[in-house]
Amino acid sequence: MGELMIECPRCGDPATEAYYGPCTSCRTELRATLGGDATDMAAVEYEPKMNVTPNAVALKDD
Ligand SMILES: [Zn+2]
Repeated sequence: MGELMIECPRCGDPATEAYYGPCTSCRTELRATLGGDATDMAAVEYEPKMNVTPNAVALKDD
């Protein structure tokens, strides 16, 4: 399924992840402590280009 056996760079535990990076529990922990804001900001930055069109604004007003 395209998963990698890795050693978590954060806690050093072996983990199976789709890509190299912190293991699932570390990601959960990071998200709880500092990741949430960064994710939200990225989503907000992304959205205008995708979704904000004159039509979307008009629909909201309707
Ligand atoms: Zn970890």
